[in-house]
Amino acid sequence: MLVLKFGGTSVGNADMIEKTLNIAQSVLSKSPVLVSSAMTTVTDKLVSVSKYANAGNLAEAQDLLLGIEESHLKVARELLDKHDQLLGDCTSALRKLTTDLSAMVKGLCLIREVSARSYDMLLSLGERLSTLLLYYRARAKGISVSLLDAREFIKTDDQFGCAQLKKDLSYPLIRQKVVSKPGHLIITQGFLGSTEHGVTTTLGRGGSDYSATIIGAALAAESVEIWTDVDGIMTTDPRIISHARVLPEISYGEAAELAFFGAKVIHPSTIVPAVELGIPVWVKNTHRPQLSGTCISSDKDQDSQRQGPLAIAGKKNITLITVRSTRMLNASGFLDSIFSVFEKYKVSVDLIATSEVCVSVTVDNLQHIKSLKHDLEKFSELSIESELAIVSVVGRNLYSSNDFLLKVFSALQAIPVRLITMGASDINLSLVVAQSALNAAIEALHKNIL
Ligand code: ASP
Ligand code: MG
Repeated sequence: MLVLKFGGTSVGNADMIEKTLNIAQSVLSKSPVLVSSAMTTVTDKLVSVSKYANAGNLAEAQDLLLGIEESHLKVARELLDKHDQLLGDCTSALRKLTTDLSAMVKGLCLIREVSARSYDMLLSLGERLSTLLLYYRARAKGISVSLLDAREFIKTDDQFGCAQLKKDLSYPLIRQKVVSKPGHLIITQGFLGSTEHGVTTTLGRGGSDYSATIIGAALAAESVEIWTDVDGIMTTDPRIISHARVLPEISYGEAAELAFFGAKVIHPSTIVPAVELGIPVWVKNTHRPQLSGTCISSDKDQDSQRQGPLAIAGKKNITLITVRSTRMLNASGFLDSIFSVFEKYKVSVDLIATSEVCVSVTVDNLQHIKSLKHDLEKFSELSIESELAIVSVVGRNLYSSNDFLLKVFSALQAIPVRLITMGASDINLSLVVAQSALNAAIEALHKNIL
């Protein structure tokens, strides 16, 4: 069987929904499961609704919700023209969801508080609406189809906003409820899950890709296809380098590093479920389905024997925290005392470099910075630098050739490098530079080493 995941732009209007369903229809014999994101920009709008609700601004919140409802109704009318019965059913189903949500938002506006739990419930609307459009249009096309609520089988903990998968609960439920068969299309929502007690959760922004590989792994899919609006994973961000190239293949490890260090094409967790069973994950363009896209698979399944750098990613809004303590000279437990502070506030550290009395780490989330500062300053001097960026070079056996580093540093001659992590893995070299120098660094590296 196949899992096909379609991103927000692939379901962004009636035309795209039609293209998406045509792609699914062309593989009906392979028992497809279609996982969909919300229509493009809808989740962002729901985030804004939550901000208005927090501020007690009912009029603005309702306005946005109405706009979301209207845009879905409009697409429904376009898709279900001449299918009066289906249009009627689809309209009531869409309205039921938006009306319920609107009542909830009214309550939130009154108390001026959106709890983490309500936030996830609010954000779940986008995927629940988009999958209704897909489902009714599939019926109008005469496809044998069922629509499943992902919250019935994607089980998570209760870290709302970024819930962690409970695999042992989810996989058996997926096998039980997502019964795919040749000639039939199953449609479900990406991004959504629920706790053991059925409370709605979300897997983190962009999490629909992850939903797709979770379902793919539970069902031992032949492959998972991530359908998006670019031709595949590229050598770097084409908005920075217009001649960036599509990569025909990339390993799980390389793709995970690129996603983690800023490449936007797939969600960083996407690879995890696929690796265990070695399920290939394809990234393809809904606008140009004839192109082959990028295949993400294990090193050993790939054709080429390539070595060296493959792609470059950049990540902005990085903060460097340097912890310095001479008291710790020769003392053991220094790193432990530092990291237990990060652990206490659940702040994840990306890069790290150490000397005898200093430890520098980068973080991309400043939510708990005040508390971190307070706790770390009890035993050390701190310096905090912001407006930095990480540039990451990803490839295979990067350090097997001596001139790799030579080329990297000669490319970066004119750009001050603040921190380097080299050798931690031979598939990634990450450097911290000023945010204002990120594009120049990517350009210089792309030219010199790829
Ligand atoms: N709709 C969600 C978001 O915009 C999830 C996704 O698209 O993957 O973050
Ligand atoms: Mg996405």
